[in-house]
Amino acid sequence: MDVSGIRESDGRGRHTTTHRELVMLQNGAMVIDTPGMRELGMWDISEGLGQAFSDIEKYASMCRFRDCKHEGEPGCAVRAAIESGELDESRLESYNKLKTEAKYSDDKESYRRQKEQWAKSVSVYSRKMKKEGKMKR
Ligand SMILES: [Zn+2]
Repeated sequence: MDVSGIRESDGRGRHTTTHRELVMLQNGAMVIDTPGMRELGMWDISEGLGQAFSDIEKYASMCRFRDCKHEGEPGCAVRAAIESGELDESRLESYNKLKTEAKYSDDKESYRRQKEQWAKSVSVYSRKMKKEGKMKR
């Protein structure tokens, strides 16, 4: 794949030493895998997945377990919806298939957690610094 266009628009070769990969996913989404752009790529996928399967996501958000795989876990809202006929089982099947193909859902989740934790520790740190008068306002 020709990535020269991307390289040129990058500006002054800021990231020339960074390992870079352009990945085409089976669902047609394109991901540029660089440390700096990782978040962007992952959110793109997550958004696309959520839009295409908003019906499933709606039920999935009501599952008892956050990491519910909808494979018969207790309190699974997706399974309940299928059993009551509100949701077609084939929808869940294609949803799982796409999720497996994308393979970014778990990464994204852990990345989000990491980021939240980081943001939290930064705010705690800056508050502490302010309190101790080490940081200028
Ligand atoms: Zn579930």
